[in-house]
Amino acid sequence: MIKLIEIFASIQGESTYAGLPCIFIRFAECNLRCNYCDSKYTYITRFKKSIEEILSEIENWKHIKLVEITGGEPLLQKEIYPLFQALHLSGYKILLETNGSMSLKEVPEYVVKIIDVKCKGSGEENSFLTENLLYINGKKDEIKFVLSDRKDFDFAVSFIIKKQLQNNKIIFSTVFNRLEPQTLADWILKSEINVRLQLQMHKYIWDPEKEGV
Ligand code: SF4
Repeated sequence: MIKLIEIFASIQGESTYAGLPCIFIRFAECNLRCNYCDSKYTYITRFKKSIEEILSEIENWKHIKLVEITGGEPLLQKEIYPLFQALHLSGYKILLETNGSMSLKEVPEYVVKIIDVKCKGSGEENSFLTENLLYINGKKDEIKFVLSDRKDFDFAVSFIIKKQLQNNKIIFSTVFNRLEPQTLADWILKSEINVRLQLQMHKYIWDPEKEGV
């Protein structure tokens, strides 16, 4: 059984897939405690479902074939691997949102990984598992930095250069209500790296505190 928080359909808001209708399967529990966490409700399990029950529930949205597994931290639960397989066999495109601290070694190639590298402003700056860089496919996977301030921006730029990630899909996002999008846009334009500025789209469409969107 998989420990869950919610299953819902919404608009994908935090990757290069932003704007597309997407089914979200939100796993319970997280091994980190970022100080800006907007998903604290994921720390405690709400309900459990089998893979068969999950597949049956998401069939309610017949027209949506994009599924994101998010959390919490989904890779804490080993049952995620048979779920990947079942979703893949059922024809879904799978996105995995992960906080970067768990090994990506066993994640199948058909899964699009969206991987956080936590910056100092999060309070979890040493959580990234460096060996994960070996398992990132630069053509499809995405590396995300959620930035609180200029120190975080400089850290992210220096990380990208040091680890030679310039040819990967890189997303710079702001901590909501902590760093103004316009400020980040100015910094990106004045820097010498090509990254994608990404805002948490669902927070602009709906109430930023709303769950299940
Ligand atoms: S990794 Fe995500 S869910 Fe976990 S504490 Fe950080 S922001 Fe919250």
